[in-house]
Amino acid sequence: MQTPKEIIIVGGGIAGLSAGIYAQLNGFNATILEMHDKPGGQLTAWDREGYRFDYCLHWLVGTDHGTYHDIWKELDVITDEVEVINHRIFVKLVDPKWGEFIIYNDLDEWEEYLVKLAPSDKRAIHKMCQMMRKSDRLDQFEDPPGMRSLFDYFKSFVRMGSFFPILIWYGQKNCNELFDSLGFEDERLLHFLHQLFGGQDFSALGFLMMLGWAHAKNAGYLKGGSLEMTKRMANKFKALGGKFAFEKKVNKLLIHNDQVTGVQLEDHGIYYGDHIIWAADGHYLLFDLLPDEFVDAEFKEAYQTWPLFTPVVMVGIGVNKEINTDTHNTTYLAEGLTIGSTSVSGYSIMNRSSYDPIFSPKGKTALQLQFESPWSVWENLKGEAYVQEKQQIEKDIRAIVEKHFPGITEHIEVIDIATPQTTVRYTGVWKGAYEGFMPNKDVLNGLPMELSKLKNFSMVGQWLFPGGGLPPSAQSGKWVIHKLKHETHEKFQTT
Ligand SMILES: Cc1cc2nc3c(=O)[nH]c(=O)nc-3n(C[C@H](O)[C@H](O)[C@H](O)COP(=O)(O)OP(=O)(O)OC[C@H]3O[C@@H](n4cnc5c(N)ncnc54)[C@H](O)[C@@H]3O)c2cc1C
Repeated sequence: MQTPKEIIIVGGGIAGLSAGIYAQLNGFNATILEMHDKPGGQLTAWDREGYRFDYCLHWLVGTDHGTYHDIWKELDVITDEVEVINHRIFVKLVDPKWGEFIIYNDLDEWEEYLVKLAPSDKRAIHKMCQMMRKSDRLDQFEDPPGMRSLFDYFKSFVRMGSFFPILIWYGQKNCNELFDSLGFEDERLLHFLHQLFGGQDFSALGFLMMLGWAHAKNAGYLKGGSLEMTKRMANKFKALGGKFAFEKKVNKLLIHNDQVTGVQLEDHGIYYGDHIIWAADGHYLLFDLLPDEFVDAEFKEAYQTWPLFTPVVMVGIGVNKEINTDTHNTTYLAEGLTIGSTSVSGYSIMNRSSYDPIFSPKGKTALQLQFESPWSVWENLKGEAYVQEKQQIEKDIRAIVEKHFPGITEHIEVIDIATPQTTVRYTGVWKGAYEGFMPNKDVLNGLPMELSKLKNFSMVGQWLFPGGGLPPSAQSGKWVIHKLKHETHEKFQTT
C-alpha cells in the first residue's frame, strides 16, 4: 500500500487539530476545513467588552500523568509555560431544604468531611473513597484499537492491580446501583449523591474515576482557558506546515468505487485527498451526508438508542466590581423553578475571575451561570420567539444573581447568552449535545473509527466515545494517524 500524502480533515475542533498536528509530524500534508472562521469547535471562549466568557474548559484529564498527559505535551496543550490549577473544591451544592454539600478534590479531605456529615455511613464512605483512589491506576491504552498486543493488555492488567475487580464489578452498573451496594443510609448524603450523579443513569465507573483523577491532581484547569489552549494547538499545526481553510462547510463526500476521494463544500469548492478524516459532527455525517448503505448497523443503533448529554444555556455576566465567592463553582438546586421556558432542577454559578485573571480586567468579575435546557425547548424556536426566549432568560437570570449577590444589578455591564442553538450554529453538534453520548451502564464502549464499506476514510472526535470530552477526542486524532502509518509499516512519530 502506498502512503497517503494529502490528508483532508473536516472540522477544526480538538479532534481535527490533533489529527492535523500528528499528520504533520508524520510527513503528511494536512488541510483542516472548518466551517467557522476560527478553530476550536466547542473548545472556545469569546470576548465581550473586556470580559471573556469561556464555553468549555473546566477540567482536563491528564494534566499530571498518564497517556493523556503525553498527548497534551505532544500537542503543546501543556508546555513549561502553562500553569495548571487544581481547585480545592470540585463543586459546592446548595439545596433549599438540606443546606450545603461540598465535594473536595482531595479524597482525604472529602472522606473526613463526609464522615462528619454522616458518621453512621463511615464504612461505606471509606469504601467509596478507596475505590476512587484506586481508579487512578486505570490508564488509557496508548495504541489504537486493533493494534494492541497481548503484552499491552497484560501491562494494563498489572498496572490496574486492585482496581481490576472494581472495574469488573461496577463496569455495568450505574451510580444508583453503586450507592445501593455500598449501603449508604444517611438521608442527607444520599440526597446529594443522587442529585449529583443518580438522576441520569450515569455510569458508576465514570463517577469513581472522575473523582479519582481529581484526587490524583490529574484533572486540573489550564490557566488561560479554552481559547488559549486552542491557540496553542493551532499555532503548532501551522508551525509544522499544516493549512487551515476557514468558512468552508463540507456538505458532500465524493465517493468513487467505495473510496472517498474528496469533499465538496457548500460554496461548491472541492478538495481532493488521499485520506479524508471526519472530525465534525457524527450525526450529520452518518445521516445527512452518507448514503444509507455505508452506515454500519452499530452506528444506527447507537444514534437511535444511546442517551445524549442534555445541552446547556451558558450566561456570561460581566460585573464592574470584584466579587468574592468561597468556591469557584456553586450549584444551586431548586424545585419548581423555570428559567425562560425551561423547568430546571438547578443551576451553577461559576466565578471565573476567582482563579484566572484572563476573564476580566482587574477590579471586575466574570461570572458564568449555566443550566441544562433540553433540545426540545430550542429546536423549533425561530425569529421573534427565539429573541423573546433569550429576553426572558436574561430577566430571570438578573433576578437570580441579584438574590445571590444583593446590589449586583447596577454593576452588571454585560450579559451574554449562549443557547443550545448557538452551539449548533457554531459547531454543528447534533442537538447541542456537548460531549455527545452519555456514558451509562450499558453504553461505555466506543464506536469504530472506520466504516466497513468505505475506504480512505476515518472518523475522530467526541461521537466515538460515550462521555466524549477533550482527552478521548484528542486521542482519536492521534490514533487515526498512527493507524495510517501502521498500514504502511512506517514508524509513527510523536515529536
Ligand atoms: C459547556 C461545555 C463544557 C465542557 N467542558 C469540558 C471540560 O471541562 N473538559 C472536557 O474534557 N470536555 C469538556 N467539554 C466537552 C468538549 O468540549 C468536547 O467533547 C470536545 O471539544 C469535542 O471535540 P470535537 O473535536 O470532537 O468536536 P467539536 O469541538 O464539536 O469540533 C467539531 C468542529 O467541526 C466543525 N464542523 C462541523 N460541521 C462541519 C462541516 N460540515 N464542515 C466543516 N466543519 C464542520 C465545527 O465548526 C467544529 O469546529 C465541554 C463541552 C461544553 C459544550
